[in-house]
Amino acid sequence: MAGDEIKAALFLCALQNAVKHGGVPQSGAVIGMVMGAHPELRRQAKEVSGFAKGAIADVAALSPDERVAKLQALSPEMFAALHEKHEHKKVLPDLEGAEHGVVMRFAPNPSGPLHIGHARAAALNDAYVKQYGGRYILRIEDTDPKRVDPEAYEMVKEDIAWLGLGITETVTQSERLSLYYDLCKQFIERGGAYVCTCENERFKALKDAKKACPCRDQPKETALSLWEKMLEGGFKEGEASVRVKTDLLHPDPAMRDFPIFRILDAPKHPRVDARIYPLMNFSVVADDHLLGVSHVIRGKDHIANTRRQRYIYDHFGWKVPVYRHYGRMGIEGVVLSTSQMRLGITEGKYTGWDDIHLGTLRALERRGILPDAVRNAMLAIGIGETDISFSWDNLYAENKKLVDPVANRYFFVPEPVTAVVDGAPRRMAHAMLHPGDVSKGNRELPFEGTVVLPKSELATDTAMVRLKDLFNVKVARNGETLSFSYGGDSLADARAAKAHIIQWLPAQQTVPCTLLTMEGTMHGVCEPAVAKEQGKVVQFERIGFVRIDAVSASGIRTYFTHT
Ligand code: GLU
Repeated sequence: MAGDEIKAALFLCALQNAVKHGGVPQSGAVIGMVMGAHPELRRQAKEVSGFAKGAIADVAALSPDERVAKLQALSPEMFAALHEKHEHKKVLPDLEGAEHGVVMRFAPNPSGPLHIGHARAAALNDAYVKQYGGRYILRIEDTDPKRVDPEAYEMVKEDIAWLGLGITETVTQSERLSLYYDLCKQFIERGGAYVCTCENERFKALKDAKKACPCRDQPKETALSLWEKMLEGGFKEGEASVRVKTDLLHPDPAMRDFPIFRILDAPKHPRVDARIYPLMNFSVVADDHLLGVSHVIRGKDHIANTRRQRYIYDHFGWKVPVYRHYGRMGIEGVVLSTSQMRLGITEGKYTGWDDIHLGTLRALERRGILPDAVRNAMLAIGIGETDISFSWDNLYAENKKLVDPVANRYFFVPEPVTAVVDGAPRRMAHAMLHPGDVSKGNRELPFEGTVVLPKSELATDTAMVRLKDLFNVKVARNGETLSFSYGGDSLADARAAKAHIIQWLPAQQTVPCTLLTMEGTMHGVCEPAVAKEQGKVVQFERIGFVRIDAVSASGIRTYFTHT
């Protein structure tokens, strides 16, 4: 590239940088930008850096308004690029047959609140409905009374609202039993299902031998009257069930004449007075069909169910939805089993469904994870069939992208040690509320002679620390006793002494504060202004992001989010 062209390129980059960030750029930044845009210039690195200063001086000579005008005139593209959002959202693969819109559903069992495992189906189906347009049905699958917690109905709805799913309608299966009963009757009339009164053991032996049980060939009239008898209470629990006629020669015994209705006397369903319940494979097909579900995205663990469900579709001649089965996702480090969680809560081991050791969405919320971070992390995982293990680090990275730009910064001093600093000038420290946003202003921390410092920073070989936004403090020790004195303001001195730049608080302006982490609790003090942030995520400088959980007369309770 000729000299003039290099100069022009440098000028443009410096100009764009100045418009973007205000002020005049460093030459390193401008050279980097030019090399990035014109990799061939790497061979002319010397020339480029020789011209950089001049280009920057030319930009510096312009007023901010002139800079904007010049950039717009010289390179409308570079000007426009300043306003583009660089979102690297991973695009989900297309769904076949979705061009004209989709009907999808999220179908949890109300056995407890939603956890991180549910979030994948919830977020993926949601994203596709948003991508293609259509309906997103929340279907509460509560036809197994053994897996119903009456409180979960409300919790699931709260969790869905928190996640921000675009649910367009909600159906609850226990309110639809008569629909399933009607369809079962039709199914029997069509010769696709029968009432089986064989003892379980006997049925199993026949099935394993690929043989039909005697009930299979019952005339339709007999089957229908047995079904009526079932509904009217003529059978005890376990005495009768309804089975689908599938393929008795199917290599997988679990596919052979599987059951679709059963009788259960206990536990009693909390919402309906019933004892004849459809099994999942029937109620799912009935509803996917009746609600017009076009696409189903669910885990691989449902592949065998999909195979079973096809028999039902085929018998009725119904259109089968498009299925996608994503791989398993191992989740470590938190408790996910509903029964374990419930037991732990009853025993007092966990404080509730939002205990931070649990993998529930409400526990994540309590820890300061934002719903968008959960959704983005799930979309990044996608619908791949490969089994994976869930990465907390990726979730934290997604969350950090959201909280870092907005979280206010504060000092939290764990295990505070009181230090009288001899010979230091009284002054006000101006600590930025957010380093990336001057407009947020400062926290004013007065130094009046005594501060508190984190104990861990006063190890035996510490001779100097630099109090952030204040000054250096010399540390001297006489046996166990520490004494502190003013160490000047020079950053260079602090660097030379390898002093850590640490958080501190004026001794007269502290509030007791606990920080709960998965590993244990840290006790300390924080700035009084933290109390104004209840429910929000802030950054405790040098510690990490935390959510301000509770504020009371006895102090502030916070939860660790991530670093
Ligand atoms: N209720 C089922 C479950 O939570 C989902 C059924 C389905 O997706 O077809 O596993």
